[in-house]
Amino acid sequence: MARNPRYDILFEPVRIGPVVARNRFYAVPHAAGMTNSMPHMRAKFRETKAEGGWGVVCSGYVSIDPSSDDAPLPFATLWDEDDIRSHALMTEAVHRHGALAGIELWHGGGSVMNRSSRIPPLSPSGTSWMATHVNFMGNQRPQAMDTRDIRALLTWQAEAARKARSAGFDIVYVYAGMGYLPYEFLLSDWNQRTDAYGGSVRNRVRIVQELLEVTRAAVGDRCAVALRISLEELRSRPSDAAPSQAHEVVELLAEVPDLWDVKLDSSPTDCAPSRFAPEGSHEPIIEFVRKLTRKPVVGVGRFTSPDTMVGQIKRGVLDLIGAARPSIADPFLPRKIDEGREQDIRECIGCNICISSWHDSVPVRCTQNPTIGEEWRRGWHPERIAPAGTTASVLVVGAGPAGLECALSLGRRGYEVTVAEAADEIGGRLRFETRLPGLAGWGRVLDWRRGQLERLPNVNIYRGNRLTADDILGLGNTHVVIATGSRWARLLYSALEIPVGSLEGPDVFTPDDIADGARIEGPVVVYDFDNYYMGSALAEHLARLGQAVSYVTPAGHASAWAIMSNEQPQVHRALFAAGVALHTLSRVTGFEGGEVALAKQFTGASTRLACKSLVIVGARVANDSLHTALSARSQELATIQSVTRIGDALAPGAIVHAVYSGHRYARELDADPAALSYRRDAPLGRERATVMPGFAANEDLEKLP
Ligand code: ADP
Ligand code: SF4
Repeated sequence: MARNPRYDILFEPVRIGPVVARNRFYAVPHAAGMTNSMPHMRAKFRETKAEGGWGVVCSGYVSIDPSSDDAPLPFATLWDEDDIRSHALMTEAVHRHGALAGIELWHGGGSVMNRSSRIPPLSPSGTSWMATHVNFMGNQRPQAMDTRDIRALLTWQAEAARKARSAGFDIVYVYAGMGYLPYEFLLSDWNQRTDAYGGSVRNRVRIVQELLEVTRAAVGDRCAVALRISLEELRSRPSDAAPSQAHEVVELLAEVPDLWDVKLDSSPTDCAPSRFAPEGSHEPIIEFVRKLTRKPVVGVGRFTSPDTMVGQIKRGVLDLIGAARPSIADPFLPRKIDEGREQDIRECIGCNICISSWHDSVPVRCTQNPTIGEEWRRGWHPERIAPAGTTASVLVVGAGPAGLECALSLGRRGYEVTVAEAADEIGGRLRFETRLPGLAGWGRVLDWRRGQLERLPNVNIYRGNRLTADDILGLGNTHVVIATGSRWARLLYSALEIPVGSLEGPDVFTPDDIADGARIEGPVVVYDFDNYYMGSALAEHLARLGQAVSYVTPAGHASAWAIMSNEQPQVHRALFAAGVALHTLSRVTGFEGGEVALAKQFTGASTRLACKSLVIVGARVANDSLHTALSARSQELATIQSVTRIGDALAPGAIVHAVYSGHRYARELDADPAALSYRRDAPLGRERATVMPGFAANEDLEKLP
C-alpha cells in the first residue's frame, strides 16, 4: 500500500551537522541490557531497527572510562581497541540498512559506585547521589573533582569520541542527563564549586560546553555532535536572565551541538509508565528548546500514532521523532507508516517491562514484542516467521495473551488453527485488568492481536466455548495447546516465606472473584504479596468505588516489584490520593469477627484492622486440569500428536511471559531441532588482556596545572 501523504513530512531527510538522517524517525539511546559481552546480540537488535526504517539508531549508554562503572547494571564500554571492534559490529549492521548510527558516550559521575573498577566515583563537589532504588544503592561516596580530574574527563571524552569515530558511528553524544556527571555540574545543589565550573549558570554550563568542543575536535567533520540533556529540574529553577535555568542553559549552548536530544531527569518521569502518564508527557518541559536553537531537536513521548508525530513537527516541538519504547515494541514502525500500514503497528503499551529488564541486568524483554533480544540468539525476526513444516491442524484452548499470540504466529506460519475461548469475549486476563485504573492502554496487547487475526482466514476463533477433555478428544486436531491461564489462590505465607495453607471464608476474595463481579463490602483489606500491579490497582479501584480500603503488604513498599517498572513512586501517590491506608512490612495471619489479624514482618508485633472483605492478591496457580485430564487418557489421543501447556497454564507470570510462551510454541512447532537451541554470545577479542591508562592515586600537587 502507498504511504498516506499526510505522513510525508515524517520521511523528510534531516541534516544533523555533517550527516543527514534519511527521515525523522530517531531510535534514541536506551539501555537494552546488552553489554560488550553480547556484541552480536546487540548488533542484530539494533540492526533490526535500522531494517525497520529508523533513520537513526543509537547505542545504549557507553562508558568512556573505568571511573564510570555501573556494575552490576549492564553498561557498555568504549575503553580499548576490542571495544571499538565490538561496537563496529553494530555500526556496520545499522549502515547496511541506510541508517545513521549514534553513540551515547557516558560518564556516571557520583551516581555510579564503580564496584568493579574500585575507583572513587567523581562528582563536582563530593555530594553523594541519593538512591531510592535498591539496585542503585551503594556505600561508596564520590570524591570532589579537582582541576586534574576535569582535564582527565575532557581527555576521556575526546579519546572515546575518537574511538567512536573509528568504530563507525555518525553521531557522537555528550550526555548531560539523568543524574550523570555533566548533569551534576549543571545543578547548583550538586555543584558548589567556587572555580570557573561552579556558581553562575554560565560557569556550571562550562563543562558541558567543553565536552562538546573536545568531542567536535576529536571527530572533525566526519560525525555530528549531539547533546543529550535533562531539563525537568532546570526548568523548575528560577533565573534572572531567562524564564528558567533550563532556558538559560539552552540559550548559552544553542548552536554548540549539532543536535539537541532533550529529556526528563529521572527514570520514572522520563520513562513514565502508561498507568500514570499519557503519551507526549515530556512536551510541557521540553517544548521551548526548538525556539531557542536552529539545530534539530529530538525528544521522546512514547509516540506510536503518526498523526501525533506529525503534530509534534508541525507545532514546532520536535524535528525528529525520538523513540525508545515504541522502537522496542515495533522495530518496523517507520516502515509500516511508509507502506501505509499504520494499523499494523504493534503499539507500545507503556508497561515498562523493557526498563525492568535493565534493572534486572538482563537483555531487553517486551510485552508486545516477543522477538526483541532474540534476533541473533534465536534468529527470531519481528516480521518474518518460517512457513509451517507440515499440514497439521492446531487447537488452541484459551484466548488470553498466550493463546492469542500463539494462534497469530501459528496462523502466520500457515497452520489451520482453531481457537476455543470459554468466555464470550477473547482477551483472557486483559478483559478485567484493562478496566482497572490506568490500565486501559494495556488493551493494545489484545487489540493488535485481534486486528491481525481477523485477517487470517486459516485461524477460526470460537467464543463462548468451554472445552472439556471429551470435546478435545473428539475434535481430532494434530496438536492441542492448553492456554487456559491461571487463577489467584487464597494461600498465605509465613514470615520465613513458607506457604502456610489457604485462608478460606465467605468474605475472603481474590482478584478473580472481583473480575467475576463478586459483591465487595467495606471496609476492605487488600493483602498484596504478589508485589506487582494487581494489588495496588485493585485497592485504588475499590477506593474509587467508595469503599474504605486498607492496603497491607509484607514488603517495604506498595507494589514493591514495581520499582523495576518505574511505577512504584506513582503507585504510592495514587494510593494516597485515593485515600487508601497503607500498612507495609505486615502480614495477614487471620480473619474473623470483622477484623484481620496482622503481624509485623520482622518483629512479629500484632495488630488488628477492621475488615468486612479481605482480598488476597498473592500466589497464582495454573489452570492445567485439562492437561492433566488429557495426559491421563493418552491411550485415547488417536490423531492428537501433542498436548502442550503455554502461558499461565504452564507457569503463571506477567503478560510478557505469556506472550513469549505463546510465540515460542508457534516458532518451534515442527521446527528443525537446530531452531530449538539458541546461540550464546561471546565478547570480541577478550582472550587477551588490555592495559587501561590511568593516573596514580597519589595526588601530586606539583603536577596540578
Ligand atoms: P494467559 O495469560 O496464559 O494467556 P489468561 O488467563 O489471560 O492466560 O487466558 C486464559 C483464557 O483461557 C481465558 O480467557 C479463559 O476464559 C480461557 N479458558 C480457560 N479454560 C478454558 C476452557 N476449558 N476452554 C476454553 N477456554 C478456556
Ligand atoms: Fe512498551 Fe511494555 Fe514493550 Fe516496553 S515492554 S516497549 S513499555 S510494550
